[in-house]
Amino acid sequence: MIEHSCKICVGAWPLKDHFLGDCGLTKAYVFEDQFFAGWTVLVLKEHVSELFKLSRVARGMLMEEVNHVAETLAQVFDAKKMNYELLGNQVPHIHWHLIPRLKTDPDPLKPVWCVSHEPVRLPADQLAERVTRLRAALRIHANEPV
Ligand SMILES: [Zn+2]
Repeated sequence: MIEHSCKICVGAWPLKDHFLGDCGLTKAYVFEDQFFAGWTVLVLKEHVSELFKLSRVARGMLMEEVNHVAETLAQVFDAKKMNYELLGNQVPHIHWHLIPRLKTDPDPLKPVWCVSHEPVRLPADQLAERVTRLRAALRIHANEPV
């Protein structure tokens, strides 16, 4: 089901050139701000606003996909801690922010939203390298997003 007022459903966000791959129920993207290296967004393909609106089976599958991506990010970026954010206040379409918090984190006790910083947009070559590395690590299909 597509919600036409939703920027995920209409394909306006996350950015298409940051697409990592299809995880099953979700699609993974490198987040456009890489100040926190490895920040990844996992979006549900279907427009659903709350976990409790999913079937028990779908919710279980979703959590397995979240877990797979989070564990892979933790390994690739040698995270000290993983952060899982499922908010939806601005975009009420289930999407997880999965954020490796590294040893070099400037403020590890705070959620990323509370850490003041200049957004880091990767140059095209570094983005391509990160996408390639994460696709290989995640072992996900790199089909173009629909
Ligand atoms: Zn949506």
